[in-house]
Amino acid sequence: MTKLYLAIPCYNEEEVLNDTAAALFNKYKELKEKSLITFDSRICFIDDGSRDKTWDIIKDLCSKNEIFCGIKLSRNKGHQNALLSGLLTLKDYADAVISIDADLQDDINAIDKMLIAHENGADVVYGVRSKRTSDTFFKRFTAEGYYKILEKMGAKIIFNHADFRLMSKKALDAFAEFKEVNVFLRGIVPMIGFKSEIVTYERFERTAGESKYPLKKMLALAWEGITSLSIRPIRLILSLGIISLLISFGILIYTIVSLICGVAVAGWTSLMLSIWLLGGLQLLAMGILGEYIGKIYLESKKRPRYIIEEFINQ
Ligand code: UDP
Ligand code: MG
Repeated sequence: MTKLYLAIPCYNEEEVLNDTAAALFNKYKELKEKSLITFDSRICFIDDGSRDKTWDIIKDLCSKNEIFCGIKLSRNKGHQNALLSGLLTLKDYADAVISIDADLQDDINAIDKMLIAHENGADVVYGVRSKRTSDTFFKRFTAEGYYKILEKMGAKIIFNHADFRLMSKKALDAFAEFKEVNVFLRGIVPMIGFKSEIVTYERFERTAGESKYPLKKMLALAWEGITSLSIRPIRLILSLGIISLLISFGILIYTIVSLICGVAVAGWTSLMLSIWLLGGLQLLAMGILGEYIGKIYLESKKRPRYIIEEFINQ
């Protein structure tokens, strides 16, 4: 039997929260009956600085039933940081923590399989989407393409796994040693090691409310993922530099030859072209360098990654 804590990040989720709580409560009863979890297991909502009634709903749930607990962050810090705060806080109470989104797009029936895998010795159990039929073509295409790019960049990630996973206390204690400020959990968790297992499930559509991941946040997360897991973009700059150097050698020869042949004024076009090409390359290279320097800057400050304002039903 596992003392299980569920960690559910919530940002402006008033439309789905009550349904989610009810569904999870039923799941908990079922898991207890199957003797998969202990009686003091909990369902913990993490309010990521919501501006709607999310925290009121959480407080209400907590006062009615002590199976629920709530963590309130001091302000909106984003999905990854909200999850992080949940994992690191709850690890001191639980044998295992499962993280899942508040909209329950991930199948809660996969929790049984996760717990069984955990009882059989796995310290990390990844929930992997078997199909993405509920996602739009655009999301599916970009997400799957993105996983492939990350792989090429040398990051070890689990294909089609988002943030639905079980982590044992042992894995969480090891995870707590990763002090980075730029968090991309999907990339960090596989670095921990230990025995891991995969559980597949089908992803549903959001029942109510809208996605809290608009394109802008999605792109930000994608970029965060690449730049905090891989330094290959920096290496790319080197190759770009070498290539443009080779090209300029070619141009050098070309200009000398045309000078000798007496067709000199024709050089204007190539001159303009190379100025723009090199200028562009330099800016691009500087931009990428700047991105990493920015990351170093953020890491060096060692700011807290989240601040907990309140913790109820602790
Ligand atoms: N979320 C959060 N902080 C944010 C944005 C989102 O805690 O700044 C939570 C949100 O409440 C949900 C989860 O992250 O529980 C995933 O968000 P969503 O379901 O909107 O993303 P999608 O499934 O569309 O990728
Ligand atoms: Mg969702």
